Amino acid sequence: MRRLALFDIDCTLIDPHGAGGRAIFAAVEETYGVCGGLDGYSFHGRTDPAIVTDLATRWGAPADVAAARLPECLERYVARLRLEVEAEEVEVLPGVRELTTTLACDRRVLVGLLTGNLEPGARVKLAATGLDGLFAVGAYGSDSARRADLPAVAIARAEEHTGYRFGGKEIAVIGDTPHDITCGAEHGVKAIAVATGMHTTAELAAYEPDYLFADLSDWRRAYEAILA
Ligand SMILES: [Mg+2]
Repeated sequence: MRRLALFDIDCTLIDPHGAGGRAIFAAVEETYGVCGGLDGYSFHGRTDPAIVTDLATRWGAPADVAAARLPECLERYVARLRLEVEAEEVEVLPGVRELTTTLACDRRVLVGLLTGNLEPGARVKLAATGLDGLFAVGAYGSDSARRADLPAVAIARAEEHTGYRFGGKEIAVIGDTPHDITCGAEHGVKAIAVATGMHTTAELAAYEPDYLFADLSDWRRAYEAILA
């Protein structure tokens, strides 16, 4: 039996207390000279490049300028994120340390990330928690702005790492938003939803994940779900 467990970061593994949002706002303002409100726009489940592009254009930057300066803005974002994370503690959510540590020690399981964060941004956030060494592979917002592209990236990296091609329900995608639940649908992955973000269990249930938990405090149940 082999399993690939792919974790979302924000509101699944950690609560960064808004550090990412503050860093993105600052980077967009510095890069494009525009700012504004969210007006119902949600970062949850989106990739960093998509968020930057959405905010810059909503707030008045022309689409071609938004695209041309995206790399510059993302670089500023990571630098700013580093300062934000130093200033305020990144909280590891209940059960996460136990679950990920146990999985990383289980030779049947390859543990990875599937996140909208840029790879350097993911590293900054997780390094602050000591969890960063547990993830052998990852697919990031820096690989594609479309979350639905990320499972294929993670599967390919897991194959490079192990020589084994994971498929279907051998792969678990664990996350807190409808985007996390639906992103692996074309690969037939096992979706494990956890309501530690802005979505309630009832909202997430509507997307029919294979498993649904209010949080990961009873982490053994999540562990069993990944192995099932
Ligand atoms: Mg999330």
